[in-house]
Amino acid sequence: METVDVTIIGAGVVGLAVAERLSRSGRTVVVLERRRRHGTETSSRNSEVIHSGVYYPPGTLKASLCVEGREALYALCDEWHLFCRRTGKVVVACDDAEIPKLEKLLAQGRANGVEGLELIDAGFLRDLEPCVRGKAGLKVPCSGILDSEELMRHFLRKSEEQGAIFLWNAELLSAERFSRGYRLKVSGMAEPFVTGAVVNAAGLGAEAVAGMPGLNTAAAGYTLSFFKGEYFRLRKPLDIRRLVYPLPDPHGLGIHLTIDRSGGIRLGPNSTKVDVMDCDVDASHKEEFLRAASRYLPDISVEDLYPDTAGIRPKLSADGSFKDFVIQEESDRGLPNWVNLVGIESPGLTASPAIARKVADLLHYPG
Ligand SMILES: Cc1cc2nc3c(=O)[nH]c(=O)nc-3n(C[C@H](O)[C@H](O)[C@H](O)COP(=O)(O)OP(=O)(O)OC[C@H]3O[C@@H](n4cnc5c(N)ncnc54)[C@H](O)[C@@H]3O)c2cc1C
Repeated sequence: METVDVTIIGAGVVGLAVAERLSRSGRTVVVLERRRRHGTETSSRNSEVIHSGVYYPPGTLKASLCVEGREALYALCDEWHLFCRRTGKVVVACDDAEIPKLEKLLAQGRANGVEGLELIDAGFLRDLEPCVRGKAGLKVPCSGILDSEELMRHFLRKSEEQGAIFLWNAELLSAERFSRGYRLKVSGMAEPFVTGAVVNAAGLGAEAVAGMPGLNTAAAGYTLSFFKGEYFRLRKPLDIRRLVYPLPDPHGLGIHLTIDRSGGIRLGPNSTKVDVMDCDVDASHKEEFLRAASRYLPDISVEDLYPDTAGIRPKLSADGSFKDFVIQEESDRGLPNWVNLVGIESPGLTASPAIARKVADLLHYPG
């Protein structure tokens, strides 16, 4: 293969959004994906929520790229007639002690530029969502849902129309820096091929890929821990229009209620540290889900819950402390035009178009 301008590792939603963005300019873009199709890992195993941006400390990439990505996604779905719905959501304080945390979330959301936030009391919450109970709520009108598979197919189709080449069953095995860029060794290819730039969008494999050209990932702070999140489907019909969330805990957003494209209701995800990358759902976790969800959804019982899917979060923090996305061009570590995207957990789906814009800004091409 002749030299390509940019090679993207990974065809999840982030790699696909980056491919769509970079292929607009007429440069040669190749995407290497180790699976036989796009998006089979984290990008198809999430809540499919377009997040507002209330959860992340002001000034962080998670905050700014979530807000930018959210509006970019609504505009994109509108322009290309992709499914999305601005359902809005409520974050519920289930007891009085949680109300100050709700107020903190309101202040943080406002500082992040999230529009339309409103604190509501128990009565207003009941009027808004009669099936939901709580002491108070935070109304978040700009949250919504989309169809992540449809979004990924859109990025894929546009990228291909713009000339990007996708190689499936193509795992990056090693990478070596040399004067004109990088030599990449890929499974199934007899010879390494040469690329001017690399974007590491390998999700769960991002730390391994970052280490391939010789970068010390532990010293760089790129060590990943993996946290599985399971979902249960709620088979009981409930008249709910908005997404319903408890207050977040350090490991996640809490077991929340989401509505999918066809109106089905799911509860999840929980959060468990794992070493093995299996996405089975343990049916015995029903009780945990019932306990968590019945705090704000009193009229459900264990018979209403059925195991659904699970996804795995690539986290830069194992102890629940906040860690921002890593979106780093590595010239300072001797790897010019190598961009690492590490720890792209939630809100990575929402932020995907904004991450792609940022990656395009970071790459500098000769000439
Ligand atoms: C339970 C859960 C719920 C979530 N809910 C939401 C939500 O509601 N809203 C939101 O905004 N975000 C959410 N997220 C986060 C969001 O799903 C992710 O941030 C996003 O999908 C990350 O996309 P990605 O492309 O970086 O990773 P991935 O989808 O994991 O894609 C990476 C790809 O790289 C490939 N790859 C890895 N190594 C190699 C290699 N060496 N060579 C070739 N290919 C390789 C993999 O096969 C994979 O296809 C959630 C995540 C989880 C786990």
